[in-house]
Amino acid sequence: MTEQSGQSKALDNLLRENRAFPPSDEFAAQANATAPMFDEANADREAFWAKQAERLHWDTKWTQVLDWSGAPFAKWFVGGKLNVAYNCVDRHVEAGHGDQVAIHWEGEPGDTRTITYSDLQTEVCKTANALTALGLRAGDRVAIYLPMIPEAIFSMLACARLGLTHSVVFGGFSAEALRTRIDDAEAKLVITADGQYRRGSAVPLKAAVDEAVTQTPTIEHVLVVRRTGIDVEWAEGRDLWWHETVEPASGEHTPEAFDAEHPLFILYTSGTTGKPKGILHTSGGYLTQTSYTHYNVFDLKADNDVYWCTADIGWVTGHSYIVYGPLSNRATQIVYEGTPNTPHEGRHWEIIQKYKASIYYTAPTLIRTFMKWGDDIPAKFDLSSLRVIGTVGEPINPEAWIWYREHIGAGSAPVVDTWWQTETGAIMVSPLPGVTTLKPGSAIAPLPGVSAKVVDDDGNEVGKGGGGYLVLDQPWPSMLRGIWGDEERYRETYWKRFAKQGFYFAGDGAKYDEDGAIWLLGRVDDVMLVSGHNISTTEVESALVSHPKVAEAAVVGATDPTTGQAVVSFVILRGGADEGSDIAKELRDHVAGEIGPIAKPRQILVVPELPKTRSGKIMRRLLRDVAENRKIGDVTTLADSSVMDLISQGLNTGK
Ligand code: ATP
Ligand code: MG
Repeated sequence: MTEQSGQSKALDNLLRENRAFPPSDEFAAQANATAPMFDEANADREAFWAKQAERLHWDTKWTQVLDWSGAPFAKWFVGGKLNVAYNCVDRHVEAGHGDQVAIHWEGEPGDTRTITYSDLQTEVCKTANALTALGLRAGDRVAIYLPMIPEAIFSMLACARLGLTHSVVFGGFSAEALRTRIDDAEAKLVITADGQYRRGSAVPLKAAVDEAVTQTPTIEHVLVVRRTGIDVEWAEGRDLWWHETVEPASGEHTPEAFDAEHPLFILYTSGTTGKPKGILHTSGGYLTQTSYTHYNVFDLKADNDVYWCTADIGWVTGHSYIVYGPLSNRATQIVYEGTPNTPHEGRHWEIIQKYKASIYYTAPTLIRTFMKWGDDIPAKFDLSSLRVIGTVGEPINPEAWIWYREHIGAGSAPVVDTWWQTETGAIMVSPLPGVTTLKPGSAIAPLPGVSAKVVDDDGNEVGKGGGGYLVLDQPWPSMLRGIWGDEERYRETYWKRFAKQGFYFAGDGAKYDEDGAIWLLGRVDDVMLVSGHNISTTEVESALVSHPKVAEAAVVGATDPTTGQAVVSFVILRGGADEGSDIAKELRDHVAGEIGPIAKPRQILVVPELPKTRSGKIMRRLLRDVAENRKIGDVTTLADSSVMDLISQGLNTGK
């Protein structure tokens, strides 16, 4: 067990994981990223970012790289002007790449569309012209409430082109969630679809908009894509069909350059820890960092790669790594509308095989789901085209990392575990393929140009082997520029905890291993205090997932009369795993063996599902309610709210 030193510690460092994978010479020889980038960035951070900004086309060059005089409100590339959509589309066409495929789109029912950069240019221009004709002007807000169809991307880029600020709301959210987001941003237009496909059937989407906009005075129009053909209610004058409004519009449009700090979008965080916050991002710095990280972390070769990020555009990953990063880098990418098990559990692998995808970026939750479904499913497909695979959203358990590398990455593809947040806009801590020695479960180190540290309660950096809080101690180009309409909440949430030092506090716990690599340990709100030890939920979950029978685990601290808090775990077993007579004892002993008796769960509950947000994060606060026999809290941002009923029922019947 870890010794408590005199220095204050946020977290005990319990789990040991020693496997390491250096890059192959072959990969390193062709990698975009190089080790000297770290030295270059350390020597002069601002000069380094200025060089990255040269990746983009600027109509007017900046006069100052960073203005931090109004901290914590940053201004990057002061005085610079650019058009984000021009950078993502037109300039590639002008450089002779109009015929290159931008998007291989796969609909859930099996319909497909191939969209070249020229096609994308035409579609974005038509959309921009149509929005202008509706009276929208730079600075206005537009809500986008669409499934994963190409029109979602056209809409975002049309907004960017016109200087409209988009607010994408996940297509699975309720009318109420949509209403509060429209209201908060005072959007004038909602772009939606009649319906969307979900697990093989067409379900209504516009109906939720109809309900929401009865109470949103700012909405002037609802623009509706016909996706499923299902019946919809129609408000004459307010509602407009996409095919009657956008399609007839001109496919020519001259982009205007906007200030580097012009608002690009508002995106509400996933609400894992509380009420969603409207995170504001601007243009020049955001595009610089999404472009730079996408190029280096995924080793993108625009002429050869086929890239696939499985996120929804309603999540920041969809903004930065489907729309802005990849398109600014002229990627050819796959966009898939549906769920991973429609019509069968091999759908992702089938798509990778079909398009010969070479880069695949997904979430740990999905990897654990694939593990649960069984190894035999990916084994039926040819995944040999994959050369870089990535994850985002939660700490990845070492066992899930190894499974991913073995079964999806052929035992050789670099796995990039990327840590970042809606607030950071782009990847911050991640290995660089071809440069970094990988460790399963570790996001390793801040990228060149980024500065992150693990600190104790007093803001002092902990030493090797120490645990604490992850902070960002230097501003970065794609950092949030505030919370929409709430300056105070911005200061409170991110800058108050380490106000003295001027650090941005991310809300996550982390540790350094003996080599100084960074391991994310989950949210500090989730940390358990057991008999005076601060234990991370992530470490106990990883210990559980390392048992061959466990596919997924969620751990919470529940009030306990003797230990203060006790570890309560919820586990999902792997496909085909036999529960055995005393699975609970088996797993408790396993945890004790892996990390020590202090972390031994008081209770282990086998459940069919876990409560997750739309972006796949486990909502531990709801499980804490179950563990402490409380009424279950707000479930509006759950992907499937019936999961909590399933869990409660199972527990009541003693299953
Ligand atoms: P809210 O802030 O409303 O609770 P959220 O934090 O879930 O919502 P996001 O911005 O989508 O919304 O998630 C960012 C968080 O996801 C990070 O703070 C971290 O906890 C987690 N995360 C993302 N990537 C990783 C990763 N690679 N390793 C560990 N944790 C990660
Ligand atoms: Mg957060």
